[in-house]
Amino acid sequence: MSNFRSAHDDGNSIALMRYYELLSGTLGPMHWWPAKTPFEVIVGAILTQSTSWSNVERAIANLRSAKMLTPSAIRKARSRKLAALVRPTGYFRHKAKKLKSFVNFLQSEYGSSLKRMFRTPTAELREKLLSVHGIGPETADSILLYAGNHPVFVVDAYTHRIFGRHGLTIGKPDYDAVRALVEASLPAQPPIFNEFHALIVETGKRWCRKSAPNCEACPLRELLPADSAFLSASGTLPSGKPLAEALP
Ligand code: SF4
Repeated sequence: MSNFRSAHDDGNSIALMRYYELLSGTLGPMHWWPAKTPFEVIVGAILTQSTSWSNVERAIANLRSAKMLTPSAIRKARSRKLAALVRPTGYFRHKAKKLKSFVNFLQSEYGSSLKRMFRTPTAELREKLLSVHGIGPETADSILLYAGNHPVFVVDAYTHRIFGRHGLTIGKPDYDAVRALVEASLPAQPPIFNEFHALIVETGKRWCRKSAPNCEACPLRELLPADSAFLSASGTLPSGKPLAEALP
């Protein structure tokens, strides 16, 4: 029986630190987030919705060339021009609107000062960010953690997939439940949450793919419950149902 299950049976803290240690020992340090300034992190967090990071990099390069990587420049920019610059990320009109919503929020609430914004207590700022058009939980938490150094964990599709496969979560993915689980289980330090999120993403890309996860090579294999169908490298459940169909 795995560490997780015996800890989980205690009813509260789960041995997620072991996940962290195994991944960190193989992959770390990850040196996230790939951005030059806190504002660039925020722009990236908004633009990365529903697209790959390489597309975000192209859009950020466009914004940089046009000298538009500041809150005031984005606030003053014409919507059509802004949309054209972020076009590589897809849904570009919506994303231009989201960027404008954020900088207008920053102006009205904090006089365009990110320093002032990030001095706000974490829970209060999270609520405020979630009220901004186009900012959902994952984007809000990315902003809080990677731009503001607040102690929150960012949950993404890879987290849901890995936690679901390991029996850490059951049923429909629940963002806030997974976030609370990690935040209660690891030391509440931004560098730890930062690194753990990056490690989870890398694990999802390298081994825990949607179809045919490579458990044999994965550092987390020892934490996979003994009765897990994923110990099979066949990519199918015992029922013969393709793995991908059974996962979020
Ligand atoms: S690849 Fe297998 S061992 Fe690795 S995280 Fe996914 S389910 Fe777990």
